[in-house]
Amino acid sequence: MSDIIQLLPDHVANQIAAGEVVQRPASVVKELLENAIDAHATSIKLIVKDAGKTLIQVIDDGEGMSATDARLSFERHATSKIRTADDLFKLNTKGFRGEALASIAAIAHVELKTKQEEDEVGTSIIIEGSEVVEQEVVVTPKGTSIAVKNLFFNIPARRNFLKSNTVELRHIVDEFHRVALAHPNIAFAMYHNGSEVFMLPESNYRQRIVNIFGNKTNEKLVPVNEDTEVIKISGFVGKPEYAKKSRGEQFFFVNNRFIKSAYLNHAIASAFEGLLKDGAHASYFLNLEVNPQTIDINIHPTKTEIKFDDEHTLYAILRASVKHSLGQFNIAPVLDFDRDADLDTPYDYQNKGVKVPVIEVDKGFNPFQEERTASNTQTRSFKKEPAGSREGLYVGLESKGTKSQKDFSEVRYESDEKTASMFQNENEVEQQQSTYQLHNKYIISKIKSGMLLIDQHKAHQRILYEDFLQYITVKEAMSQQLLFPLQLHFSPQEIAIIKQVKEDLEHTGFMFDNITEDGLEITGVPVSVPESEVSIILEQLISDVENEVPDSNFSAADLLAKSMSKSLAIKTGQGLTMQEQEHLVNKLFACKEPSVSPTNKPTFITMNIDELDRKFL
Ligand code: ADP
Ligand code: MG
Repeated sequence: MSDIIQLLPDHVANQIAAGEVVQRPASVVKELLENAIDAHATSIKLIVKDAGKTLIQVIDDGEGMSATDARLSFERHATSKIRTADDLFKLNTKGFRGEALASIAAIAHVELKTKQEEDEVGTSIIIEGSEVVEQEVVVTPKGTSIAVKNLFFNIPARRNFLKSNTVELRHIVDEFHRVALAHPNIAFAMYHNGSEVFMLPESNYRQRIVNIFGNKTNEKLVPVNEDTEVIKISGFVGKPEYAKKSRGEQFFFVNNRFIKSAYLNHAIASAFEGLLKDGAHASYFLNLEVNPQTIDINIHPTKTEIKFDDEHTLYAILRASVKHSLGQFNIAPVLDFDRDADLDTPYDYQNKGVKVPVIEVDKGFNPFQEERTASNTQTRSFKKEPAGSREGLYVGLESKGTKSQKDFSEVRYESDEKTASMFQNENEVEQQQSTYQLHNKYIISKIKSGMLLIDQHKAHQRILYEDFLQYITVKEAMSQQLLFPLQLHFSPQEIAIIKQVKEDLEHTGFMFDNITEDGLEITGVPVSVPESEVSIILEQLISDVENEVPDSNFSAADLLAKSMSKSLAIKTGQGLTMQEQEHLVNKLFACKEPSVSPTNKPTFITMNIDELDRKFL
């Protein structure tokens, strides 16, 4: 048989390499930003159009390239950063593979303009799918500008594979954050579709974090500093009470390079052990400086994973220093571990029925008369309620907690009569009990053919989900106006997410005002949503939107309804009165799809008499 092996032509090899280096627009952003940093830029500008699908441009004021280097930079394995394999172990640059520009030029239209300080004129090169279309002498400022247009123009499959602009932009912003956080001494700016997204002047590290994540971040940061023989740690962790449901703000930098490390992440998590609520993740912004010879960053093409020589020691030092900082700043004692249970939504509140939402002003209201806090729904919210006393706010609800009993007796309800009759009813009902709650988790209900076993949390989710979906789509939710708007703080990215779903949120009954870069005011909430729950709902929602990878049947309304029902549904562990149980069962079976939760889990199972009989054979 004749020889069949051939060397691949360069442009094919480049396209294959591009598959590794360039997964999406954000990968290009990363490579171009890193090149600008390696060129010692002091100011770097990122310009993006259509989430990078049409344009990604990076302009720097760094060293620039000579005409020959400019041409060579697009060749594969062309790099000015290493010369021998030994250099790999004393790297102080981001790049070293010499692959990025070659890969990018293989799959996009690239325009490069560059000039070195000492040169009179610069070089402009246009290259499309690895082919140089034009090379000219140009007048251009010192530094380099690279514009990458029409990414994947010659690989339609890859182009079609790109996600929505929202998702792709989020990836770009993530990369931008990582690079900008690693280099607070460099000024960065980012623009998307003509508007400024970030303007980050040269600053110290704390200021850089605050400039990216919003002013309110400042008070959340606890400094971490440790200097040992093997590692120098500097940076910040977020106070436990600000921990988020999303993993958003977790950053490790090793020698100024962003890295992912599940192992080191675990070290932080274990330092926070006992301080965080379930499902919450600590934020951190930590710089680790180690001897470059003790790490290997060559194990991953995008260089986000690295190997340490002595991971165990790093783990121990990291964990200890974070613990030390948390202790030193007295973080632990402020936490209130009892809070969670009380935050559960008393179910009955949901069932108040369709009451016309009257927005009343309590004429007798005196803001200085603190103790008369609980009132009816429409006039409540005079005072920021401590989380524990929330039951006191519900009309006609049997108070299960003991804490609020006192408040209850002192307050005259508009609906006093109704309340009284409801309790009477309860006694009557008790005689003909048809449901039974098992372990504060399941509700057993009798049906003709046997019995139903209902998961209370999932069932309630289904009920709330259909309610919210209806409000959002029919747009007739009831809103309850707050006398004092609720001020909430978010990062600019979180505000952007809220803006995306704002209209749908308004249909559920939320009312917003004064939306700024890092905060907003809530002036009204859906009748079914207690004020104290609002920030939790929004945080959960942001986290859900962030984690959602929208596909073709992505619907903001659906996501919102799911997220809110998840936040508000009664939890496992909550005792329900007979009436609450019955109401839950009735409402569930009035749903369009009673048998599954919004996340497609069964809400109940049935067991008929035959099955039971068989068990006794
Ligand atoms: P690497 O960064 O791994 O060396 P790249 O393909 O990213 O490989 O870049 C190739 C070379 O082009 C770099 O080594 C550098 O010499 C030059 N270069 C790329 N971008 C810039 C820039 N913004 N300013 C100056 N030189 C650059
Ligand atoms: Mg590079």
